[in-house]
Amino acid sequence: MELLINGLSKTYGNGVKALDNVSLTIPTGMFGLLGPNGAGKSTLMRILATLQEADSGTAMLGDPGSEAGMTIDVLKDKEAVRKVLGYLPQEFGVYPRVSAYQMLDHIAMLKGVTNGGERKSLVEALLQKVNLWEYRKRRIAGFSGGMKQRFGIAQSLIGDPKLIIVDEPTAGLDPGERNRFYNLLTEIGENVVVILSTHIVQDVQELCSNMAIIDKGKLLYAGSPNDALAGIKGHVWEKTIAKAELENYATSHQLISNKLVGGRPVIHVLSAQRPDEGFTPADPTLEDVFFSSIASEVNATPAHA
Ligand code: ADP
Repeated sequence: MELLINGLSKTYGNGVKALDNVSLTIPTGMFGLLGPNGAGKSTLMRILATLQEADSGTAMLGDPGSEAGMTIDVLKDKEAVRKVLGYLPQEFGVYPRVSAYQMLDHIAMLKGVTNGGERKSLVEALLQKVNLWEYRKRRIAGFSGGMKQRFGIAQSLIGDPKLIIVDEPTAGLDPGERNRFYNLLTEIGENVVVILSTHIVQDVQELCSNMAIIDKGKLLYAGSPNDALAGIKGHVWEKTIAKAELENYATSHQLISNKLVGGRPVIHVLSAQRPDEGFTPADPTLEDVFFSSIASEVNATPAHA
């Protein structure tokens, strides 16, 4: 499976250009779409999930390895997409009086699993898979954030999807819930295309073999996390400074991050050479990649534009 996105653009009625000529190749496996809030991630996810129209561009889902050459035109053939799509939206609707079992059974019915016996085994298997078996009779409304997300994955897996889209799945999860969710996604991502949209760098670092960074609707990076790290190796420098110096460093250097450690700012700057004596070389992190991509885009934009 492979998803080929070419020249995708979308401008909202209020003039916001949410996607600006985005082209991406997304292979089988876990693909991380990383960007800050407002970058255009949900717009892209909703277009691919057939919930929204693009202004221009194409998206083709196909199997380059297969002789039959099944290819779905994602923007045109919405019915065909929906048959192979599993979608976990940012906000999953809640059904207060309905148990997890009843809800999954209902969705399976809607997705065409009409045989009662078949549906029973499917729903039971899914509840086991996402570790909600012991809570199957409880109302979804009472679930924790992590349980709701795992329920969301269970419903998205009905119908054996080939393309799975998860939009900001770990926002609001505690570290334990996040880990359980990661493990579940890793199991699923082996044979299908999974697009994980997130503003959380750790999600991509732990899960994804390929990634893209977008901001303000533009693609800033596409490739593997390792190549991204290699690309800035030797260019990231670290220094502990006084709070009062922060502003100065922000104007005189290409500051990519600043964190408080023990109450003092520790800054990372991007530079081909050691900026001054006080800086030590830092091992680049994916967070450095993320912030340096966004920072270089900001720096490249003329202030009067
Ligand atoms: P992300 O998912 O990365 O946070 P979105 O795709 O939700 O980004 O939004 C991208 C940009 O488009 C933002 O500036 C947002 O305010 C704007 N936007 C999103 N949805 C709409 C809409 N329905 N109408 C107008 N502007 C929108």
